[in-house]
Amino acid sequence: MAGVDVGGVELDFTCPGCGGTVQAAIDAVRMLPVLDCPACGQRFGVDLEAFSVQVTQAEAAAKAARKRRKA
Ligand SMILES: [Zn+2]
Repeated sequence: MAGVDVGGVELDFTCPGCGGTVQAAIDAVRMLPVLDCPACGQRFGVDLEAFSVQVTQAEAAAKAARKRRKA
């Protein structure tokens, strides 16, 4: 099965401190699922269950994009 590399895809995470959006690449979150909010400085752990859903969606989107390019 040919996998889709989505490690470089950036996802949006919501800061629990200020509700702002923090962007981080999938690879970075896999390495260290802790983010620093640039707006309020809060450090928070990524919700890994929600993250795995986001990764699945990113993979599905990447596969769909690849199919569109082939067609
Ligand atoms: Zn924040």
